[in-house]
Amino acid sequence: MNYSDTERVETVLEKNGYAKAKTLEEVDLFIFNTCSIRQKGEDRVHGLLGKLAQYKKANPRLLIGITGCMVRQTSSRNSENNVKDKLLTTAFNLDFVFRINDTHKLAEVLAEAEPQLELQGAEEKPSENRTDYLKVDPKYSSKIQAFVPIQIGCDKYCTYCIVPYSRGREESRDLAEIVSECRKLVENGCKEITLVGQTVNSYGLSDLDKKSARFTDFTEQPFIKLLKELNALSELGLSRLRYTSPHPRDFTDELIEAHANLKTLCPYIHLPVQAGDNTVLAKMNRKYTVEHYRGIIEKIKTRLPNCVISTDIIVGFCGETDEQFENTFNLFQDLKFDHAFIARYSTRKETVSEKYFQDDVTKEKKAERWNRLNDLLVATSTHKNQAYEGQELEVLVERFNTLTKELEGRSREYKLVQFKGDESQVGKIQQVKILKGLPWVLKGEI
Ligand code: SAH
Ligand code: SF4
Repeated sequence: MNYSDTERVETVLEKNGYAKAKTLEEVDLFIFNTCSIRQKGEDRVHGLLGKLAQYKKANPRLLIGITGCMVRQTSSRNSENNVKDKLLTTAFNLDFVFRINDTHKLAEVLAEAEPQLELQGAEEKPSENRTDYLKVDPKYSSKIQAFVPIQIGCDKYCTYCIVPYSRGREESRDLAEIVSECRKLVENGCKEITLVGQTVNSYGLSDLDKKSARFTDFTEQPFIKLLKELNALSELGLSRLRYTSPHPRDFTDELIEAHANLKTLCPYIHLPVQAGDNTVLAKMNRKYTVEHYRGIIEKIKTRLPNCVISTDIIVGFCGETDEQFENTFNLFQDLKFDHAFIARYSTRKETVSEKYFQDDVTKEKKAERWNRLNDLLVATSTHKNQAYEGQELEVLVERFNTLTKELEGRSREYKLVQFKGDESQVGKIQQVKILKGLPWVLKGEI
């Protein structure tokens, strides 16, 4: 999501006369697009702000701003007090902040922060609703792949999660607007599109969506309709369609069928489970049970035998006992995920967990649980990757590593594949024979 948002910020800056700096010394404007999911990310931003002091000293024109999840109120050092974001008083060297859905107002914010600035004054259309910032044409960083946001915010309110507070209520983007952005991309040579949102399969189903006229005449799950319309872009050259992340609650049989029937939809599903214990899941407010989750995975494995599955797990959530963690461990062992993002619970301000629960699992215990799951993951993913040895996979080549002289890209199953080749292959689709399966990568040859 942040990559995609950054591409839009870049467009607005270019329209206002900014260009990419080549060295840190010549930078006149830094913007951090931040993630608040864990405290670590926020700490890093504060650390970097401190380091920028030397550049600020050397260049009095230098402006520093923050956007993304750390920001609550678009404002600058010169705003009226009552609308100032707290960050402007707590962070070092900060001149302005803006909410990401105010991207189209960035020029205004910059002008307020520094009235001397001579901006080219490109005006964006005034905003009518929060998804309007997505109408800004992004400056895509790759010609062959793109992230396309389909919804903003989240209404699920998992008790540990900051997203509903930092990104606001869930609201979906107009279907025709998404299809039109994707069509333009494909016409310009894009081969792979990843739809992004916090819970993509509740696309068109949020309270705000239901109140708007945009999603009233749908006869099927809006997300499925969207996938079908985008699949039709294969005629124009779209080869791969992906999405991230779906939520187990709205993961329907129709979605599994869509994977079986839509030729662009890739055989890879990232379905976050978070925990393998019903008491923990309930306390997290995930609103599904372990049995429900297992049921979905079983259906996926039966209907889509080649589908790769990955997940997200949080270890050390408030009150998680040894026994409850064992349940997560057992689920992990049974379901044999190809990959997983394992996080140690970190308290986030404003959340229900912060207000009502105790972060009482010790650091050492969190580390121990993390290590046990990670060891298991290394073993399963190595085993799974070895099973590809001798098989051919289709790889979309993303980059050339000048040091190793290797090409690197992803298979349709989202497996990272490396193989010898030359730079001219970047952007092309190659058939690669897998020679060796390692824990996180497959080595092969054209
Ligand atoms: N919307 C997605 C997840 C988005 S956040 C979903 O619900 O599945 C990405 C991941 O960060 C989550 O899946 C979770 O594993 C992790 N995460 C979120 N809040 C966290 C916290 N407070 N501490 C540790 N990990 C967290
Ligand atoms: Fe956070 Fe839960 Fe929403 Fe995912 S579904 S973004 S974890 S509140």
